[in-house]
Amino acid sequence: MKETSELFNYPELVFAVSEKKDGPMKISEKQTRIILKNRDRFFTSLGLDSDVVISGEIVHGNNVAIIGRQNLQTTLTNTDALVTDQRGIFLAITVADCLPIFLFDPINEVVAIVHAGWRGLKNNIIEKTIGTMTIKLNSKSSDIIAYIGPAIGSCHFEVKSDLEKIFKTNYPKAVIYRDDKIFINLKLIARQQLLSQNLNQKNIFASVDCTYCKAEKFYSFRRDKTQPVKTMVALIGLKKGASR
Ligand SMILES: [Zn+2]
Repeated sequence: MKETSELFNYPELVFAVSEKKDGPMKISEKQTRIILKNRDRFFTSLGLDSDVVISGEIVHGNNVAIIGRQNLQTTLTNTDALVTDQRGIFLAITVADCLPIFLFDPINEVVAIVHAGWRGLKNNIIEKTIGTMTIKLNSKSSDIIAYIGPAIGSCHFEVKSDLEKIFKTNYPKAVIYRDDKIFINLKLIARQQLLSQNLNQKNIFASVDCTYCKAEKFYSFRRDKTQPVKTMVALIGLKKGASR
């Protein structure tokens, strides 16, 4: 899989994943003030005000929300994927091993962010999000560019036979046997699902980073086992600027 160069060709597009040095980003009751400060600082570093960022409160489900100005300054409960066709609105989810998937249709200026762990992939959150972009917001699949951000790799995503059964039939190459253990390549499953939604192979990019391996750079739910869980924030949106 290729790296991200192509997405960077759009100067008004902002997409980013925070790192460990930016601090934990998941809003939780205990440390809200610190978290909000971390988020503020990170968004500011991207040139954004916190009040233009709308976050999904992820639940490992497959609900997709279309976001407009009425949603500004809110958090969407029970939402793992957010979509908008409006500039100046930035969509965010939190991750720490699960896949942050960024979607961008440069023709219609539609952006989406998806939080997808194995549950989301099993419950077709990618198909639902692309369906929302194409049916509701007139995107064409072949125009959509996808970037799968840093997430747990097949080096570390060890599973039991229940997950093996779920994915083996449809994604045989994503189930890996090593040292009498079973591992799953979630990024590969995501890639196959993007392809099955008619995205062009050349428009699919992925980070090579494993969040578990890169302990100095990323939080990892599996590795850290912290409570409350420490997570990165992933965000995408288009800046208001000269419109085309
Ligand atoms: Zn790893």
